[in-house]
Amino acid sequence: MAERITEFFGIDVFNEAVMRERLPKATFKALKKTMENGEELDSQIADIVASVMKDWAIEKGATHYTHWFQPMTGITAEKHDAFITPAAEGKVILEFSGKELIKGEPDASSFPSGGLRATCEARGYTTWDCTSPAFVKEDAAGVTLCIPTAFCSYTGEALDKKTPLLRSMEAIDREAVRVLKLFGHQDVTNVSCSVGPEQEYFLIDREKFLQREDLIFTGRTLFGAKPPKGSEMDDHYFGTLKERVAAYMKELNVELWKLGVLAKTQHNEAAPAQHELAPIYATANISVDHNQLVMEVMKKVAKRHGLECLLHEKPFKGLHGSGKHNNWSMVTNTGKNLLDPGKKPNENLQFLLFVTAVIKAVDEHATLLRYSASNPGNDHRLGGHEAPPAIISIFLGEQLEDIVRQIIETGEAKDCKKKVYMNIGVHTLPEIKKDATDRNRTSPFAFTGNKFEFRMLGSSMSVAGPNTVLNTIVADTLSQFSDELEKAAPEEFETVLKKLLQRELTAHERIIFNGDGYSEEWTKEAERRGLPNEASIVDATKSLLYDRTEEVFTKHRVFSRTELEARAEINYENYSKTLNIEAKTMVDMAAKLYIPAFIRYATELAESINAVRAAVPSADFTVQTKLLTQVSELLAETEAAMERLKEERTKAYHTKGARTQAEAYRANVVPAMEALRAPVDKLEGIVDKKAWPVPTYGDLVFEV
Ligand code: ADP
Ligand code: MG
Repeated sequence: MAERITEFFGIDVFNEAVMRERLPKATFKALKKTMENGEELDSQIADIVASVMKDWAIEKGATHYTHWFQPMTGITAEKHDAFITPAAEGKVILEFSGKELIKGEPDASSFPSGGLRATCEARGYTTWDCTSPAFVKEDAAGVTLCIPTAFCSYTGEALDKKTPLLRSMEAIDREAVRVLKLFGHQDVTNVSCSVGPEQEYFLIDREKFLQREDLIFTGRTLFGAKPPKGSEMDDHYFGTLKERVAAYMKELNVELWKLGVLAKTQHNEAAPAQHELAPIYATANISVDHNQLVMEVMKKVAKRHGLECLLHEKPFKGLHGSGKHNNWSMVTNTGKNLLDPGKKPNENLQFLLFVTAVIKAVDEHATLLRYSASNPGNDHRLGGHEAPPAIISIFLGEQLEDIVRQIIETGEAKDCKKKVYMNIGVHTLPEIKKDATDRNRTSPFAFTGNKFEFRMLGSSMSVAGPNTVLNTIVADTLSQFSDELEKAAPEEFETVLKKLLQRELTAHERIIFNGDGYSEEWTKEAERRGLPNEASIVDATKSLLYDRTEEVFTKHRVFSRTELEARAEINYENYSKTLNIEAKTMVDMAAKLYIPAFIRYATELAESINAVRAAVPSADFTVQTKLLTQVSELLAETEAAMERLKEERTKAYHTKGARTQAEAYRANVVPAMEALRAPVDKLEGIVDKKAWPVPTYGDLVFEV
């Protein structure tokens, strides 16, 4: 296969190579201009592109096309249209116009809009994002041409995740170029963000998955005792792949490579049945689209292997959950990574300015960043000693932290800690250079050599949101720096710049933390430093409506006030809906599976006692009696907890106001769910395995 990869890589993508080959030269040039500089696309050119795209797709077997978009559900949406147009004599021809390529008009009324719709109409528009290539997708429905699009309302408000992301990319482009001009880089016309999202996931047997209502309806288990073995032996992390998993990964890679996704790294993760895939980084919006495809293809391929892919953040209580590491950097059109420290980072003022911009942005908008990485599932991970804590802090590594300290103390960094060679103690092994930073797995936001790694994200989330926030807040601090530095005369530029660095680093030093983020001391220390610690998505969401959020996002035209309000509303609604489904599923499982099973088991014990007593009146049946008492008590506890959960759910369900409702679910339904889970999980350790109504954790994660 190896030599064939270069042949089939990107074969399903209408990429630049295909465009260059098939489009008339002038059309290709015009399209590239639009792609690179955002210039408006002429309708005649769109017609030519559409026609060529259609012919290419039809050669690939396509019968339909779709505007592929990313509504605020966090997943992708598509509505297929056939290429057919009626022709004379009852026949059809296959057509696809520039207008159809550029604009679509799906009914927006059934997508979350957070109240945006009430003020306008149901009409929504999808518009072609020519910066992300179109592709064909094959499934049982046949082959479909997918055109990445942005989705907005009749009045131009963003109804999706892509539009704000594209807006934020424009903001950081504009502001970074402005800063670079100050450093004399007249050749830089464009700065884009690179993103590499590492994706974690679980694979379990599909037959067993289908026996668990909780997994089917909510993506996670709502009951289940920890198996005797978890990940304490560290024998799954980077372990040898099981054959079935290996076959899955092989096919997954091929499918992704065909779609032009740079799937690069694969390995087993910490928990049993947990794995990871990391692509090579790409421009932010392409990376976002690709990550959506990765998640979609992961699920699809799993079914072909009799497996189910779980993308939920916490499928199994007591085992590691899944996250996504968002590696982020800025790169110029001349190919320079602005976060590359170079050989002498202490003297590299431009690098230090960009790093300072990130530090300031993260400190000033910590809660907003935490919000951007939140979803109901991730609430089970953050702060749970397996994922980063819910407190945002930045890890800089020894070298950079030392530089920052020198600047704060003396106004400049005279020296910098050098890379050292490691002595491994074996002469036949080559000497290797140590990285300037060791890893710190507990940090939510870490500088890792030439990029920042935002590690808080949940595994099932779109990475569009976090990158929209990151781009915008950094664009804003860069713009503040430019405002100040542009006023300085050339001869005093360096002095002003150094003062700025010292001032800003002193002001935001509190966000820098290189220690153990899991420790109790850190929670206390962070509180002392005044860093926010929002335990739940419900608390973090309010940051969307902070004055400074509105100021920054409207200034850079990424979100309007209305759009921010809509997102908060959707977030609260989504939380409530998720919890409502989870609570209902629990009640359903308790009523129809667990309680009947416990009654059957109790009856069996009672019958055994009676039978033994009848056969040998003097026999000892204390074991049965003890078990029966335990089971009966826990059975009663289960039933009572189920009734209470029903009540709490109903109360929360009828609570008015999106935020108040979400708070009601969090405050009252969550504890009621835990109270129902507890006796059932206890019974799992008592009841006969054969009588247990669903596959256990052991069955699910060890038998793949
Ligand atoms: P680790 O597991 O050590 O964090 P991986 O190699 O699994 O690292 O993933 C690192 C991710 O970071 C990859 O997706 C990689 O392409 C991406 N990456 C590397 N350099 C950059 C960069 N300059 N900007 C953005 N992402 C990057
Ligand atoms: Mg990582």
